[in-house]
Amino acid sequence: MVVGAGFSGLYMLYELRRRGLTARVLEAGSDVGGTWYWNRYPGARCDVESLDYSYSFDEDLQQEWKWTERYPAQPEIQRYLAHVADRFDLRKDITFDTRVVAAQYDTPSATWTVRTEAGDRLTARYCILATGCLSVPKAPEIPGLDDFRGPVYHTATWPESGVDFSGRRVGVFGTGSSGVQAIPMIAQEAGHVTVFQRTPAFSVPAFNGPLDPEWEREIKTNYAERRRQNRASEAGIVRGDNPQSAHDVDEEQRQREYESRYTKGGFGILGAYADLMADQRANDTVSDFVRQKIRERVTDPEVAERLLPWEYPLGTKRICVDTDYYETFNRDNVTLVDLRRDALETVTANGVRTARGEVELDCLVLATGFDAMTGAVNRIDIRGRDGAVLAEKWGAGPRTYLGLGTAGFPNLFLLAGPGSPSVLTNMVTAIEQHVEWTGRCIEHLRTHGYRTIEPTVEAEDGWVDHVNEVASMTLFPKAASWYLGANVPGKPRIFMPYAGGFATYEKQCDEVAEQDYRGFALK
Ligand code: FAD
Repeated sequence: MVVGAGFSGLYMLYELRRRGLTARVLEAGSDVGGTWYWNRYPGARCDVESLDYSYSFDEDLQQEWKWTERYPAQPEIQRYLAHVADRFDLRKDITFDTRVVAAQYDTPSATWTVRTEAGDRLTARYCILATGCLSVPKAPEIPGLDDFRGPVYHTATWPESGVDFSGRRVGVFGTGSSGVQAIPMIAQEAGHVTVFQRTPAFSVPAFNGPLDPEWEREIKTNYAERRRQNRASEAGIVRGDNPQSAHDVDEEQRQREYESRYTKGGFGILGAYADLMADQRANDTVSDFVRQKIRERVTDPEVAERLLPWEYPLGTKRICVDTDYYETFNRDNVTLVDLRRDALETVTANGVRTARGEVELDCLVLATGFDAMTGAVNRIDIRGRDGAVLAEKWGAGPRTYLGLGTAGFPNLFLLAGPGSPSVLTNMVTAIEQHVEWTGRCIEHLRTHGYRTIEPTVEAEDGWVDHVNEVASMTLFPKAASWYLGANVPGKPRIFMPYAGGFATYEKQCDEVAEQDYRGFALK
């Protein structure tokens, strides 16, 4: 059984069927899509290019599907995933509107039984959590929010019917990826937008536009090779990573390199030098470059200064890819309130009060992010062997082996789980690798007559140490980011994804499989 019907769950179902198994997918939403089903806010789009942010497992699918844009918007990605579900007849094995609330392992039968919110039960040999890294909206910690009389919209649970902002005074909290995408769109429609900024983002322009037919033809002529290169890269995407250090070249050459990558759009700038995420001085050069670009994009120098991120190195919080984000602050109907200067006091019935006074508002938009990576898993009451409770085991932070399994919980698989590269990569590349590894593993168990698989405690401890060690060699821990759980009060501060790179990770997973699933106990 598979929980979740986004990119991960859909492909997992296909993979299990392909290997001759039957499976049922349980999905809380009313349709397939996951992230792309829930996040319907204006401006929602991917920031990995469409030709790469898509499945590679079927040559006909990848040849026939036509993306309209470099970075397509949510409705198009949702249509794509619905098309995949229809094309491979996946829906007949998916139960929608069904939230899994508990999963219990039974040792004698070596099976998992899940319980749904409606009280139904379902038993299966394997339980695969495809529940998403960014699927549980974080409860906002904004004082007085319940007092507000107008509507409050969260970007991750946006109304299907859309929202009409015309003429309305809108307040926005949250300037991460979702806020950066939504604010320019809302500003085009609203009477006035007030952005309450706590921590400024580093954002680079997408330079989005219609997909260049020449480029599409070029990629599709040898799509398999492009996908192979994505899989062989550390970010799960070809972005021309330069192996040089930023210190190997002079200032002029560095500026040229950054300029050329910046003008191509997207986050290719992160691949400019190999040590940008490991060496503070190297990172300073690219952070300064992007800060200068922000200054150039904003007319009012005071507003520009308030939009500059200084608190963390570029890339240590997910870099945003925008369309007209900074230019939006040049509009007459947009005001930036910097909460670092003008502290937030409370939301009131009619608006928001800061140290500067009250701003009257008709509605609020919360782009306040997610309880990332562990949120969806920890919300299910998961009980493994000998009554082990997963939420307790993970109380001080998630513990997995390869991000794929966790000791004490036999036959439980995690897709894009903590301890895997997932959110630091093009996630579709990472998801395909996880699904294929899991499919191969289950086939191995069946053909060799094993009933269960489970990581050993030693292997898991070793992996957790490795994940921490790799993270400590980077600049990532310098930011109070959701990678570290820092956005959720009380969440343990553990760097959750594997920062060692996708290709390095896949190699380790393959070696483990080739060495009879080294570090797993098979019975
Ligand atoms: P999801 O798509 O999150 O699907 C998980 C599903 O599980 C959901 O449908 C959820 O309803 C369901 N579920 C969870 N818990 C339960 C339960 N207890 N019972 C039943 N169902 C449950 N990644 C990139 O690589 N590039 C991008 O450009 C990019 N853009 C993004 C933009 C936004 C706005 C967001 C939020 C994320 C973005 N991501 C991006 C990350 C994105 O989440 C992944 O790329 C990908 O869609 C994850 O697929 P998934 O199937 O693993 O998880």
